[in-house]
Amino acid sequence: QLRRALMEGQLRVHYQPILGLSGTAGEVDSVEALVRWQHPTRGLVPPSEFVTIAEETGLIVPLGEWVLEEACRQVVAWEAQGIRLSVSVNVSGVQITQPDVVSRVAAVLDRTGVDPARVALEMTESVLMRDAEETLSVLRALKDLGVRLHVDDFGTGYSSLSYLKRFPVDAVKVDRSFVGGMAPGSFDTAVVAALVSLSHNLGLQCVAEGVETAEQLELLVQLGCDYAQGYLFCEPLAEEALGSWLDAHP
Ligand code: C2E
Ligand code: MG
Ligand code: MG
Repeated sequence: QLRRALMEGQLRVHYQPILGLSGTAGEVDSVEALVRWQHPTRGLVPPSEFVTIAEETGLIVPLGEWVLEEACRQVVAWEAQGIRLSVSVNVSGVQITQPDVVSRVAAVLDRTGVDPARVALEMTESVLMRDAEETLSVLRALKDLGVRLHVDDFGTGYSSLSYLKRFPVDAVKVDRSFVGGMAPGSFDTAVVAALVSLSHNLGLQCVAEGVETAEQLELLVQLGCDYAQGYLFCEPLAEEALGSWLDAHP
């Protein structure tokens, strides 16, 4: 069914705003592209229910490429409407190990005409750790295309901190399990504080995922976290709905 969904255009990309917390605080800096499946009988199916199957069957390769292309086209379309946004796209470990991953990403950037500096590829720690040498050369080649690289779900995977130094990453996204536990003096607040200073000391930007309460936001601002994303601001929305949200939140 997923194979057919891809061919018959049943997949959708929703976009969730990522807001700046310092400088021009509150401004929408970028959006994260998140795939959904508009299933003919089951309704809107979340990625948690089909991304693993897509990875196991290899369908994640064409699916991920479709999401990337869709997201790049959307950035170009927004630009034409005077809306300046960057986009983050999730990339699976299966995609990264494809021998032609770099040329495929380059082809999408070419076809859509997007400014590569407006595109970030999100990868989890476990993807980066898979085969450090092989991954390093792929990441360097992707960076040479001009895109940004972000470490997703940071703090949850099995990883070595040395790769942050060796790999050409631009930002880390603190996993929402830590953000969700933020309260004054809590363990999770201490972890987030450490991750914010770790990333800044390494010259990386820090994004907090899953911000749901004003208290979490307040603590993140105090800690100097650069960006935040979460239901407190906005859930992932279809492109038209996001347009209305942006109009209402200048
Ligand atoms: P992720 O990349 O870490 O994306 C963030 C997830 O957190 C999204 O779930 C988003 O809807 C959710 N989220 C955002 N703010 C909040 C909040 O305040 N509270 C809570 N509880 N959740 C929040 P979603 O869209 O269901 O995606 C789940 C995961 O599926 C993503 O996690 C990513 O790993 C994967 N995924 C989504 N789209 C793609 C894709 O195009 N390609 C690949 N390979 N994976 C994807
Ligand atoms: Mg992500
Ligand atoms: Mg994440």
